[in-house]
Order: sequence, then C-alpha cells, then structure tokens
Amino acid sequence: MERVFNFSAGPSVLPESVLKIAQAELMNYKGCGTSVMEMSHRSKIYLEIFDNSTALLKEIMDVPDNYKILFLQGGASTQFAMIPMNLLTDKKTVDIVDSGHWAHLAVKESIKFAKTNVVASSKDSKYDHFPVLDPAKFTPDADYFHYTSNNTIFGTKLSAIPQTGNVPLVCDMSSNILSEVYDVSKFGLIYAGAQKNMGPAGVTVVIIRDDLLARSPESLPTMFNYNTHVNADGMYNTPPTYGVYLAGLVYQWVKDLGGVSAVHKINEEKAGLIYDCIDNSAIYKGYVAKQDRSLMNITFNSGNEERDNKFCKEAEKAGLVNLKGYRTVGGMRVSTYNAMPIEGCRALVEFMKKFEMENK
Ligand SMILES: *Cc1c(COP(=O)(O)O)cnc(C)c1O
Repeated sequence: MERVFNFSAGPSVLPESVLKIAQAELMNYKGCGTSVMEMSHRSKIYLEIFDNSTALLKEIMDVPDNYKILFLQGGASTQFAMIPMNLLTDKKTVDIVDSGHWAHLAVKESIKFAKTNVVASSKDSKYDHFPVLDPAKFTPDADYFHYTSNNTIFGTKLSAIPQTGNVPLVCDMSSNILSEVYDVSKFGLIYAGAQKNMGPAGVTVVIIRDDLLARSPESLPTMFNYNTHVNADGMYNTPPTYGVYLAGLVYQWVKDLGGVSAVHKINEEKAGLIYDCIDNSAIYKGYVAKQDRSLMNITFNSGNEERDNKFCKEAEKAGLVNLKGYRTVGGMRVSTYNAMPIEGCRALVEFMKKFEMENK
C-alpha cells in the first residue's frame, strides 16, 4: 500500500520529510555507529540532540528565559494530576473550564486534590461550542486557572487568552500547540502530549514559569515533582530519548516553514477548504458553533449514520483514512494537524463533493 492521507486524531500524521530524515539516520546516526535509540541518554552526542530539541522549541514558541521546558512521560493525562500536585498552595483552589472530554477528565482529577470551581461548561450541550468565559465568575485568588485551548474530540478552540489577572494560567495545548502563535509569557504552565502536533507518543512537553516551581511540596513522590526534572536538566532518569529526537526534527521542520505564524496561515487555508465545503453542502453539517471552530479537528456529519459509515468506508478506499468521529459524537472528524499537507485537504474536499453528488 502507498502512503495514505491520514486524518487520525492522535497519534497522527508526521511530516514526510521528518520520517525520511529519521529513516536515513536510523541505523547510524551521523556516523556515530548506533541508532539514537541505542545511545546512553548521558552521552555527549545524545545530550546535543536533547539540547537542540529544547532550544528549537524555545525558539519557535518564543519561550521567555524565565520558563523551563521539560520532556516528560505519562502523557497529558498524567499532567491532569501532576499540575495540582505541584501548583496548589494552602488555598487549594482551582478555576477550570469544562470545554470537552479531556477538559472534563482534568476536572475529575483536580477534584481529588483541590476545591475545583468549574467557571464555565458546555457539557449540557454536548460540548458543541466553547463555553463563554465570564471573568466575574473567576476566583480572584485561585491557585491557578486551567483550560484546554483545543478540544480534540468535539472540534472547538479558544484562541483568545483568558484574562485571569495574577492567577497563573495553565493550558492543555495537546492538540493545537504549534498550530498558531500563543504568547507564552501570558501562561504559568503549558503542557501537551507530543503525539498530535509534535512527534510520536511517549513525550509530554511541559513549559513552566520559574517562580511556580517553588510551590511543589517536598513530600511529593520524586518523579512527580517538576523540580526533580528541572534540577537534573531533564536527565534525572531516562527521558523518552527517541521521541525527543523526533520532536526536534519536527521543530526544525516548523522553523524551516517559517515558524509557527507561517504554519498558522497554512492551517487556516487547510481548514478553510474543508469548512467551506461543509458550509456549501446540502448534506454535510458541522457539529460545533462556527465562531469556535478548531483548525486542527473538524467535526461534521452527513445527516444520518448509515451515510456517515458509507462516507468513511469509501474515503478509506480513496486513501483518506481515519475519518470516523469519536464514538460519543458520531459523524466524521478530520484532523488537520500541522503535518497534514494541503494536498490531503484538497483530496478530501474533492472526495466530499463527489460523495455528495452520488449520495444526495
Ligand atoms: C490527546 C489529548 C489528551 C490525552 O493525551 P495523552 O497523552 O493520551 O494522555 C489530553 N488533552 C488533550 C486536549 C488531548 O487532545
């Protein structure tokens, strides 16, 4: 089989040029005689790879000097617990936005540690929009404010950064990090699993503002304390070595495209093609409110389940795969992460139009 257009929500498509570099370097990395996978994480050559990945991410996200970048394991899901473990103060109070499946799991985990105020939720309407944030409902002295910038399953996003005053802003950016420019200096902590927009599964990026590190209680298990990883420059134990290498190749690819703002423009064009097709169709209907539409995950259906199933089946035959929506949402979900080429979106739109003609 040839390579297909893979619209998987995660783990997801990687840039072909990145895979080719990884392939070329697989057996013998730059003449050192071993694969990156086989190197000691403390070797000079690996430390260069690790530092390069860190430096590139800092550069393309314009991360200020008073922030630390960590490559952890355990997925974004582990951060749902690690964040309250490290960032709560004696107040033990958190504001949180319930905007989707993952946001809701973050709420459930937060409740185990803190008084958790859900300041906005769109749960009652099955997360078909990003809930409106009313600062009057925010807790002025909360330990932090948590939200999810892109809701992977439902296909909504919030580009505007919530105004929380002195309350540190914590963001789960798993599914839209590097897809548009976010001003990192507005955040206390940003985290993201790598497997949507940055590389393979197994790496979780955490970007944390220095001053928040003082909050972690000494009593935390060693591996769950951010300071452990900061103080050991990410080498307290074996980091996900190959994943960090691959993420570095992706960061270089973003940089070579002209950086995150250039990638954002392409993403708008890509998503625009598909949303236009939905909006000009007699059968396709978007799942979410227009003003909250995600650039990374596009959700729609064709009016009935039978036709949706047929759509996915025939699309697959045309080399357009992993389009089935999440089981609780139904319909289709098109994930147009950074690495999805615009040709993939054009091919999909062509297919959508043809399918509509044949299945009215
Ligand atoms: C995929 C995803 C997660 C879960 O990530 P894991 O790395 O599987 O734990 C959390 N939040 C968002 C927004 C996601 O898209």
